[in-house]
Amino acid sequence: MSFSYTASDLVPPFGSLSRCPPTLSIVVPCYNEEATLLPLVARLEQLSERLLARGLIVQPIELVLVDDGSHDHTWDVIKNAKTTFPVTGVKLSRNQGHQPALFAGLMQAKGEAVVSMDADLQDDPDAISEMVEAYLGGADVVYGVRASRRSDTWFKRWTAQQYYDLLKRLGVDLLPDHADFRLMSRKALKALSQFGETHLFMRALVRKLGFPSEIVTYNRAPRVAGDSKYTLRKMMELGFDGVTSFSVKPLRMIVFFGFTVAIVTFLFALFAVISWAMGHTMPGWTSIVLPLSLLGGVHLVALGVIGEYVGKIYEETKRRPRFIIDEVIGADSTMDGSRTGVQAIVRRT
Ligand code: UDP
Ligand code: MG
Repeated sequence: MSFSYTASDLVPPFGSLSRCPPTLSIVVPCYNEEATLLPLVARLEQLSERLLARGLIVQPIELVLVDDGSHDHTWDVIKNAKTTFPVTGVKLSRNQGHQPALFAGLMQAKGEAVVSMDADLQDDPDAISEMVEAYLGGADVVYGVRASRRSDTWFKRWTAQQYYDLLKRLGVDLLPDHADFRLMSRKALKALSQFGETHLFMRALVRKLGFPSEIVTYNRAPRVAGDSKYTLRKMMELGFDGVTSFSVKPLRMIVFFGFTVAIVTFLFALFAVISWAMGHTMPGWTSIVLPLSLLGGVHLVALGVIGEYVGKIYEETKRRPRFIIDEVIGADSTMDGSRTGVQAIVRRT
């Protein structure tokens, strides 16, 4: 008697399934998040059980918590977390900022699929099931996109819109209303790890990978506890990185602006010479001082823009590490990130 199996006998029916259920890591950067971590872990425990019950993942999730130099008890909470799934704690030596902290966590994660999300439960954990389904359907990157920005203040909505419009005009490929809530396959992560820049702006870097991608929309909840850790300064730094790391158009705009000013000045000089030849003297002060001070301002702005890029080159050429890890705990989980497709899970207990 012979047995024959088809793919549909071996795996649950997930539509146009092209992958096997993965091991899943969830990476969360944490800066002074002592109050949010327990609610986060509780939600992820429910999620892990649900994903397992539906056969979407093959073992409990791995949670990677990165302590980005917190001043509160975040690290103690991470160390003492009692969970039904393995937790990897990564303690950075000091506060490096959200993007480097997230990158550190992504590089530490061992799952075949890795989700990044914020600690404050603003990113809806329930959307992760849909992300895994999209991964099973063949997507290497699944973007979490906010269904609406209604929960934001008018100011935040307006600045976000202006920023997206600006970046679009500068030729930067960004997905509107997507921040850093996304799933990436191991292949996509490997590719991301090859980007060596010091100034990370992950949401635009990931767009450059070029693998098949999907979008999952979700409703952004209010912060579960505490206040935003993104100060205006940090937000502006990230905003500048988005422009200067992905577009040299501002430099080109200076060249065009310079040409325009040069042509206008030339016409002005021509007019001055002709008036002089015709015996009219230029009515002095305004015609000299105004263009001079205007050009002085234009020069300073131009120098400032060039300086931004030169500063960036200076920082990038030093190739300093993007983060320094002080301590890693619980990294020896049962997942093996090198595992692909249907091979067995390697247990290293
Ligand atoms: N975060 C971080 N380092 C920082 C600032 C923020 O690791 O220097 C983390 C923070 O703990 C949170 C995520 O980045 O998990 C997003 O920050 P937050 O929720 O404060 O930003 P918002 O949602 O207000 O833009
Ligand atoms: Mg938040």
